[in-house]
Amino acid sequence: MLGGLFGKKSRSKNTEKASSEAPKQATKKASQSSKPAQAKNSATASKAAQTPPAKKPQAPKAKPWTIDKYAVPEEEGKTRFHDLGLDLNLVHAIADLKYQYCSDIQAESLPHTLLGHDVIGKAQTGTGKTAAFLITIINDLIKRPIPDADRYASEPRALILAPTRELAMQIEKDAISLTKYAPVSVYSVVGGIDYQRQRDYVHNQVFDILVATPGRLIDFLNSGELYLDQLDFLVIDEADRMLDMGFIPDVKRILSRCPKVDRRQTLMFSATFNDDVMNLSKRWTSNPINIEIEPEQLTTDRVEQKVFMVPSDEKLEIICRYIEVNNVKKAIVFGNRRDETRRLEATLKKKGVKAALLSGEVPQPKRIKTLEQFKNGQIEILVATDVAGRGIHVDGVSHVFNYNLPEDAEDYVHRIGRTGRANETGVSISFACEDDAFLLPEIEKYIGMKLNCEYPDYLLDGEKAKPGKS
Ligand code: AMP
Repeated sequence: MLGGLFGKKSRSKNTEKASSEAPKQATKKASQSSKPAQAKNSATASKAAQTPPAKKPQAPKAKPWTIDKYAVPEEEGKTRFHDLGLDLNLVHAIADLKYQYCSDIQAESLPHTLLGHDVIGKAQTGTGKTAAFLITIINDLIKRPIPDADRYASEPRALILAPTRELAMQIEKDAISLTKYAPVSVYSVVGGIDYQRQRDYVHNQVFDILVATPGRLIDFLNSGELYLDQLDFLVIDEADRMLDMGFIPDVKRILSRCPKVDRRQTLMFSATFNDDVMNLSKRWTSNPINIEIEPEQLTTDRVEQKVFMVPSDEKLEIICRYIEVNNVKKAIVFGNRRDETRRLEATLKKKGVKAALLSGEVPQPKRIKTLEQFKNGQIEILVATDVAGRGIHVDGVSHVFNYNLPEDAEDYVHRIGRTGRANETGVSISFACEDDAFLLPEIEKYIGMKLNCEYPDYLLDGEKAKPGKS
């Protein structure tokens, strides 16, 4: 099967030893076909010889870390990471992240996924689903290593598909944190940046976990830089968004190059499940465990939601005053259209606000830099569109503003989920004006609660500013 799909036989092997796969887990995936020793294509081989495999430098020998350094009391109804039989190096990385107990999706999914079962998870961002699938993959890759001598470049062992570049890069970042002490390497291929660099990397390096957006991945599959037939794990994240963004044909093409459903472990997540997502998830998984984490927890518990009823020509003035009066230092403002977000960012900047734009029209390198600056506080207000904003996973965002109400009620939940993450609290303020107030009932129906509407006249110039947080 090796190379057969694309008619190319020259995957560079990182050493000259013949290979035979390490025995795999006895549950569903069992072993994939044994890899025959490859006759090396000379060009590839010389490249591979020049480029050392993508192994992390060994940490200096210190006293071994022990689990007693990660003291978390047992508590009824809660699952500790200690109790899941995870590899100690992985637990060490989890301890560094200061996670104490499993989130709901982790507690419900890990006992199954660690045994090799497929999962279909209905869960939004903010629930800890990324760590749920990463912990599953990393633990397995640590426990079932394949010797370097038997690994090939271009052949990841796990693929995580995400709809947006930002989400893919955030997943990569989380994976890097969780593999801090593990001999597991991570790489991402995303569109918009570094085509040549990504191509060279995947062609020449041996790596374990690949995080990818569909378009760039297809490019590399078509050009024979990447092969997916040795995957043990496939994660499809935010499947509903993949569908919305028209990626499903691409995902189908990608899946046709992966091992068959009963030869891989598939973990599929989606915030919503309409009939289309449901049908796809049934086809792409095998005897899955279904897990549902209710989104209401996100919208009602930790995020205080307000609606400001304002005329459209006063929104700008009000948002600037609000930011000033409440000394807002980390917030995201969502707009519906790129031109609107562009204008909004320019105006905020003119008013002295440290603002930046994150929309599809901003080149990828700039988007990455902007996100970094937002994370470290150099940028205080991020003006974003839904697609670009959905992948923002930044802790400590105190406010989300809906400069326009989203046309799709589901986006409302995604937007406000950017605040109140990881057990923090947050405030969401939605502007409803003459152009979009009609969308409110749909949103209220979707989230199952009435929103608190107010007329924030006190924020208009000339009025005395009201002190306090909101
Ligand atoms: P996600 O839903 O994957 O986007 O994760 C949301 C946030 O929760 C991220 O900032 C994670 O670092 C954090 N997180 C994930 N798992 C846990 C946990 N068990 N305890 C505390 N925070 C967590």
